[in-house]
Amino acid sequence: MNRKEISAGGVVYRQKDGVLQIQLIQDRYGKTSLAKGKMEAGETIEQTALREIWEETGIVGKIISPVDIIAYRYNHPEYGVVDKEVHYYLVEAEEGTLKAQVEEINDVEWYEPHTAWQKQRQSGYDNNDIILRKALELLNINI
Ligand code: ATP
Repeated sequence: MNRKEISAGGVVYRQKDGVLQIQLIQDRYGKTSLAKGKMEAGETIEQTALREIWEETGIVGKIISPVDIIAYRYNHPEYGVVDKEVHYYLVEAEEGTLKAQVEEINDVEWYEPHTAWQKQRQSGYDNNDIILRKALELLNINI
């Protein structure tokens, strides 16, 4: 049986001077992605999402709604094949200052929706397209 991992994270947004911005990270593999991380014992999946967003990016967020779940498989040097599920939420930034937790991610920035979408298309994981697209739809943004 393959090892199974469950992670959760979010499409985090904020209103900056009346302009909506979306948070994107650069993960430690150099790809554009979304803040996320593994579920810990005793946590709900929503708690995991908010904790990981806070730990990785310094932002305290509030869950607005679920977005979707993606699944993929990767090869871990020790554990072999891992079947992974990532639960994504739409999250509004409430407080905190953006600061990449460098042990876990390379970088984190805010982008206007159109730029975020382009960046996702250029250097993101294909299966995150649907996550960002659905989140933007929930925010009534057409890209
Ligand atoms: P976390 O604790 O945040 O879940 P991790 O670094 O342990 O992170 P992943 O981010 O899932 O695990 O990375 C493991 C492997 O999967 C890496 O090779 C990475 O490039 C790849 N990977 C990460 N996100 C995706 C994705 N959305 N689709 C496909 N492969 C991905």
